[in-house]
Amino acid sequence: MPATTVFPISEKAQNFVKSISKGKYDRKITAGVDKFVNEQVDEDMKRFYSQNELDALVELKGTERDIESRMPVKMTRHYFEQARNSKAMQQLIKASPAETFDLAGSQDPGKQMDYSPVEGLLHKYEIGLLYVASTCSAHCRFCYREELIARKDVARPDGAIAPKGLAQVGDICQYIVEHNRMVAANGGVHPETGRPKLREILMSGGDPMVLSNKIIGNWWASLSEAGIENIRLGTKELAFFPDRFDATFFEMLDQFHENYPHTNIRFVVHFNHPDEFLKKDDAGNYIQNDGGGLAWLDNTSKSVKQLASRNWVNIDNQSPIIKGINDDPDALRILQCELKRNGIENSRFYCGRDIVGHRAFNLTIEDAWKVLNESQKGLSGIESHARLSITHYKGKTEVCAVTSEANGIQGGENGVVVFKLYRNAGAAEHRGKIAIVGRNPEAIWFNDYEDRVIFDEAGLFEKSNY
Ligand code: SF4
Repeated sequence: MPATTVFPISEKAQNFVKSISKGKYDRKITAGVDKFVNEQVDEDMKRFYSQNELDALVELKGTERDIESRMPVKMTRHYFEQARNSKAMQQLIKASPAETFDLAGSQDPGKQMDYSPVEGLLHKYEIGLLYVASTCSAHCRFCYREELIARKDVARPDGAIAPKGLAQVGDICQYIVEHNRMVAANGGVHPETGRPKLREILMSGGDPMVLSNKIIGNWWASLSEAGIENIRLGTKELAFFPDRFDATFFEMLDQFHENYPHTNIRFVVHFNHPDEFLKKDDAGNYIQNDGGGLAWLDNTSKSVKQLASRNWVNIDNQSPIIKGINDDPDALRILQCELKRNGIENSRFYCGRDIVGHRAFNLTIEDAWKVLNESQKGLSGIESHARLSITHYKGKTEVCAVTSEANGIQGGENGVVVFKLYRNAGAAEHRGKIAIVGRNPEAIWFNDYEDRVIFDEAGLFEKSNY
């Protein structure tokens, strides 16, 4: 294993990190199908999987369709308690043989590894994404990071094959400082990659909230001292284990802000379905508040309110639209409405990616657009900010419109799909450009449209690009 770089942080940072307290909580995690098979779970969890479901999973063990070598099973007690009364949440957390029926798909459809100059970092735009943890409190069956969580080998652009490594503070901060030094010396863009200053970092994984307060605080202080202005933290912990946001965490958050007042902290949270945070009555209906809106689970509400009360913290929700989990316009309407009411912005919904082992979860691009569009009927302008995104190699792309007809446009007799590139790696020269293709209701990825491209100023359908 190569030696990692030591990044010299200041005395202020060292004192801040020293002052951080350890959280006191217990996630009560159940990990592994065997726990259910051998009945080594709480009494009330024993029927979470039926005997038939367990038999089917056991039969696949050790075969190429083994469910847990694709994605280990893991669940918190909190999530289980909500999932008992939610089909959608059960779909999200319960392993099923259907996951590996069809193993078609790409290993790396966004060619992410092309953008990894340092282990654990993807550097595309003015933002870098870090893999800082290789697990989450629970595991979504549809996860796009299963290669990291299940420690699978991935191919690198140089031909090497190895599991993805995690980012190391010293190596990353050294890279940021050097990148930004070259950008500054070259008039605002990097001389080789054309990228601007690296000013934002997304800490991801896995879920960074599985790390201790001290490790998170050390990352934040180091990134801030390396010149990062905005730190995003991608987390599903508000759904899996909201009590993680305890007094010790908020103490660390406030101390960080006191020491680094100009570094913005942005939580990108991950709610897929309103069942993950709303209370239900005995008949399974959401409960209306007297003063308006719906009643949230007490601990989730408390954690969200605490985060939202700090005006230097942003909270945005991002979620894929997944078959059988949230491909339901009514559920997504409630999700968007309630998140906005409680201080969480609706940022993006994602189409599935054509990754190996994802066919069981993928909605077609056109169906995902229809579900989201339908869900936003009846929402106010500020409740319906979220757009449908798909991660193309060239950058984040919006699925802007799906029409049922486009007579007068050659190739559009059955309607068209309009894509718009709204993020573009490097110099961002293609940002804002569009592509129009004839409809293919079966399409789940760009290649499914390659025989029906009508107009492509964005270059989304140049074959080498996907
Ligand atoms: S929270 Fe995110 S990273 Fe973790 S298992 Fe779910 S989708 Fe994957």
